[in-house]
Amino acid sequence: KEVVENNNEGFLPKLPPFDYSPPPYTGPSAADILAKRKAYLSPSLFHFYNKPLNIVDGKMQYLFDESGRRYLDAFGGIATVCCGHCHPDVIKSITNQINRIQHTTVVYLNHAIADFAEALASKMPGNLKVVFFTNSGTEANELAMMIARLYTGCNDIISLRNAYHGNAAGTMGATAQSNWKFNVVQTGVHHALNPDPYRGVFGSDGEKYAKDVQDLIDFGTSGHVAGFISEAIQGVGGIIELAPNYLPAVYASIKKAGGLCIADEVQSGFGRTGSHFWGFETQGVVPDMVTMAKGIGNGIPLGAVVTTPEVAEVLTRRCYFNTFGGNPVCTAAGLAVLNVIEKEKLQNNAFVVGSHLKERLTALKDKYEIIGDVRGRGMMLGVELVSDRQLKTPAKAETLHVMEQMKELGVLIGKGGFHGNVFRITPPLCLTKDDADYLVDAMDYTLSKM
Ligand code: PLP
Repeated sequence: KEVVENNNEGFLPKLPPFDYSPPPYTGPSAADILAKRKAYLSPSLFHFYNKPLNIVDGKMQYLFDESGRRYLDAFGGIATVCCGHCHPDVIKSITNQINRIQHTTVVYLNHAIADFAEALASKMPGNLKVVFFTNSGTEANELAMMIARLYTGCNDIISLRNAYHGNAAGTMGATAQSNWKFNVVQTGVHHALNPDPYRGVFGSDGEKYAKDVQDLIDFGTSGHVAGFISEAIQGVGGIIELAPNYLPAVYASIKKAGGLCIADEVQSGFGRTGSHFWGFETQGVVPDMVTMAKGIGNGIPLGAVVTTPEVAEVLTRRCYFNTFGGNPVCTAAGLAVLNVIEKEKLQNNAFVVGSHLKERLTALKDKYEIIGDVRGRGMMLGVELVSDRQLKTPAKAETLHVMEQMKELGVLIGKGGFHGNVFRITPPLCLTKDDADYLVDAMDYTLSKM
């Protein structure tokens, strides 16, 4: 059966050829699944598309619906699938492990856990070499914030406005967008001005924004803090790369106040920025703790906190463990992911293809008034739509329209930012130049029809 991959007759480019067809789908219809979702799954505000897609297969940078139609996955499971969907090496590593043992606890030894911890530590700078495994980014950040509080004996933590660090009580306190917050107790976090080069009050002057952190320490705390947490490129917040020179100045203030610096690499880690393996490296700093999830397991639930032996020591004061954190099947996936990134030079691909993609998107900005900003690096790119460039008025409805139309052309992208007017382009790092060109052509065509 021939599968139509492009629903618009007027649009001539074709998705790059790809030598894979998924097996025929024999499961329930999209309508049946939707009915079950409505009846049995928690109601969600997460409706990107008018009609949610029924995704039944994935292979590398592509997804397939129940009819076998192929889509370019330029959202990557929310910046999670780094090696590509169902990468054979990752599957092999998981399968080998699952055939031996699916679960064991910290009571026993298992090499899959120790091997991955060692490999992860080898990717870290400085003395960051002690790993605690978790199941998600939220858990990793909860743990890092708790460690900072235990280590310093202080409660105050500083995070950035517009940040997203998770959705449990502690991390929701660090998250700083009203869209993502419930009105429940979230104490001890102060939110500093966001060093946002596009919308922030000081433009690209990172050092000026950093003074706000010193102000918060001086006027909002006892002068001593537990720590500071931030992403290097805010993901949920709309792909905002912190203004240059921001983190070195902030880290100096935090250290002076006795606090620990936590880098949240849940989205920006594992080579996604292209230029560096970790996002914080783009600002030349070395944190006291690094938290990670998403790309670490290529979609397998896994997270981690990596810190120094000196800081990690605080957890020996009590029994501290996490039942599933560091499950051998997940860590086997993690080890394969690190190997694939290295073997297939995915960080370099993120740099080369990501730079090309950014260049082409930036050229679209010259063509269409509605594009207010193109930003990010590697395979973590943002395109912000505004209805007035001077006023930077968010063009939210247009953003949804473009996403819907691009879906019809076979391209899936994400959206984010406080106003929901930023396209988030975070594909698997194996995206090719032809894929990138197709994505831009589809966006160009869609914008030309508005
Ligand atoms: N930190 C960042 C930067 C994130 O983007 C996210 C999720 O999007 C989290 C933490 C929370 O991770 P999780 O959804 O795995 O709990």
